[in-house]
Amino acid sequence: MRRAFTFLLRPTVKQAAALAACLEDHRTLYNAALEHRRTAYAKAGVSVRYADQSAELKYIRADDAGGQGRWSFSSQQATLRRLDKAFRAFFDRVKAGRTPGFPRFKGRGRFDSVEWPRDGDGCRWDSQPEHPSATFVRLQGVGHVRVHQHRPIRGRVKTISVKREGMRWYVVLSCDDVPTGPLPATGAVAGIDLGVASLVTTSGGAHVANPRHLAATADRLAAAQRDLARKKRGSKRRHKAVARVAAMHGKVRRQRLDHAHKTALVLVRGYDVIVHEDLRITNMTRSASGTIDAPGRNVAAKSGLNRSILDAGWGVFLTILAHKAESAGRELIAVNPAGTSRTCARCGHCAKENRVTQAAFACTACGHATHADVNAAINILRAGLALRRAAEAA
Ligand SMILES: [Zn+2]
Repeated sequence: MRRAFTFLLRPTVKQAAALAACLEDHRTLYNAALEHRRTAYAKAGVSVRYADQSAELKYIRADDAGGQGRWSFSSQQATLRRLDKAFRAFFDRVKAGRTPGFPRFKGRGRFDSVEWPRDGDGCRWDSQPEHPSATFVRLQGVGHVRVHQHRPIRGRVKTISVKREGMRWYVVLSCDDVPTGPLPATGAVAGIDLGVASLVTTSGGAHVANPRHLAATADRLAAAQRDLARKKRGSKRRHKAVARVAAMHGKVRRQRLDHAHKTALVLVRGYDVIVHEDLRITNMTRSASGTIDAPGRNVAAKSGLNRSILDAGWGVFLTILAHKAESAGRELIAVNPAGTSRTCARCGHCAKENRVTQAAFACTACGHATHADVNAAINILRAGLALRRAAEAA
């Protein structure tokens, strides 16, 4: 199912000016293309088509680098297609024997929107996912514009449009594959442990690893960052190195997001209730409990940076999981993780000696031996179900 989501934009003064310029240049382009079609037909009897005009775009952009050249090629194509659509509708009506009005020039105030036909092409939804409290949309030539996202979106963002209504600016997302409602109940519950080697380990014993390509990009990013540190301030090489690091950060972010979406989807499809550790508490206790000090052997733990890149995925993952759980009608419970990695899931004995290595758990009281993350995930699940029972009884 396809659905549109509209949110208010909160541009800075500078961004609002850029948005106005963007809209104005697209309007000018629309009118110029209309003029082109009209004169070609009037003077030479030639019908100009969309493909002809689209092919000319690159010259228009090259000749006007500070004007038309600032904006996305794709949004300009979308504007030309919009004109094409107006012409088609016109000719359809002529064919049907009616006398329609010829497509008209758009005056100021009669052209209020610009569309970017594909997320990632001259625009990006949620362009700063790491930001703790705000959502941004990046628009070519305008920058990262703050979005007042008053509710979660669902599905996959396909097209992004910006429209002006009076003094206000809005972003409209057209989303594909929007789920049609709550998912059917599965009768299954799960606790999840968040880790470095495995992003997620479930109480049922499933491990979802951080993808290999993410670790590889993290390695390259660490190298690029070291390279940057060696460059002289203000030098051309440093400029390039900065750009390289920024591009790598973008890549890591996209890979992580993609992986987080896939993992969250699997969990939401599989379980009615999902219990996870409360990250606000986890982040404070992790280093003390030794997880960060003694990372697993599977992790390419070559530098603190590299590891932090993998770690940083937790918050993003939980945010995505929360959105998906809400739209699917699933229950998500956050619990205090204290003791979950040291307590035996079979007998309840709690001791730091139970944790043999990062990956191995062996209870010193009852001898129960298992994967440490699975043991933790089971404890997390229990704590969540206990909270739930307490809430129901109250
Ligand atoms: Zn035990």
